[in-house]
Amino acid sequence: MTTLITTTDIATLVARMGLPTLLAQMVEYLEADFRRWQDFEKCARLAAHSEVGVIELMPVSDANEYSFKYVNGHPSNTRLGLPTVMAFGVIAEVSTGRPSLLAELTLTTAIRTAATSVMAARLLARPQARRMALIGNGAQSEFQALAFHHLLGIEELRLYDVDPAATAKLVAHLRGVPGLRVRVCASTAEAVRGADIVTTVTADKTNATILTADMLEPGMHINGVGGDCPGKTELHPEVLRRASVFVEFEPQTRIEGDLQQMPAEFGVTELWRVLRGEAEGRRNASEITVFDSVGFALEDYSALRLLRDRAAELGLGQQIPLIPALSDPKDLYGHLVNTAAEPRRAA
Ligand code: NAD
Repeated sequence: MTTLITTTDIATLVARMGLPTLLAQMVEYLEADFRRWQDFEKCARLAAHSEVGVIELMPVSDANEYSFKYVNGHPSNTRLGLPTVMAFGVIAEVSTGRPSLLAELTLTTAIRTAATSVMAARLLARPQARRMALIGNGAQSEFQALAFHHLLGIEELRLYDVDPAATAKLVAHLRGVPGLRVRVCASTAEAVRGADIVTTVTADKTNATILTADMLEPGMHINGVGGDCPGKTELHPEVLRRASVFVEFEPQTRIEGDLQQMPAEFGVTELWRVLRGEAEGRRNASEITVFDSVGFALEDYSALRLLRDRAAELGLGQQIPLIPALSDPKDLYGHLVNTAAEPRRAA
């Protein structure tokens, strides 16, 4: 049997554990997997582009487990009543190929993306960072806001979105969070002024320039989340030139990240090397750092592992016959006709 974890299970998990605890555990699982980076077979994700969006498969494996995520990115979906990003994922046994877990990853992607942002910011932002600008107040934004507040000590958020309704929704969700001040701004420039960390999480299938070099201040950390697809960027190239740039998996970020705007010789550092102490993160208080996040398959494997462990402990999920349980593994046809006959016999 295969374990199925649905969106309802995730809602129950969050209700029982609390989002801050789940986010903290997600960071732990991510760090554990990023620390053993060399154990994984990695590749850039496989993308099918259309005029309006992209559908991607994201595989990763080690000696024991293979996992993949199916995910889309369609910025115009919200006008159709659908989320921009929707996803599900699988873990299978390398030894047999049997899929052991099938899980929703739409809600979980938002949690894992925010946790990855925190993992990077812990290595790259100034430790005393308390003020964050959050540009793009859509589906991902609450998760980013709450992760940075609970896990990194952000006390003040400055919000901007071209859609005031999105910002109003975010403000309503953050109302009453103890120790968090929220200010709505009239422009990106206003939101960014005086911020220690700038998170850009906008969705537009274009080379947008959400952040320009004139908005940079010494010591800023940029958490660039929304530029994650060819032809879809958020940071002006000059922002990257003025900063030290950190990435998940360089070959993928060169194709999809804000880095796609830069020449091949432009140097970046993979995050796992900083985590393992093999490369420097922030070098001084005035350096500008950029985490050019695109979302990497390993993060989804970490997320699936976490869901599997917590679901097992809390008795969540259900066992489904995704793969036929054959009494004779060579008699697939017999299983088909016998299974079809069973409901008739029962009737
Ligand atoms: P969403 O459509 O729900 O929200 C995006 C918001 O950006 C909208 O409210 C929109 O009005 C706003 N926006 C668009 N252009 C803007 C501009 N110029 N200035 C200010 N706001 C602007 O999308 P979402 O699910 O929140 O995802 C946001 C982005 O993050 C997407 O591009 C998505 O592909 C990306 N994403 C990245 C990762 C990752 O791992 N890096 C993971 C998930 C999503």
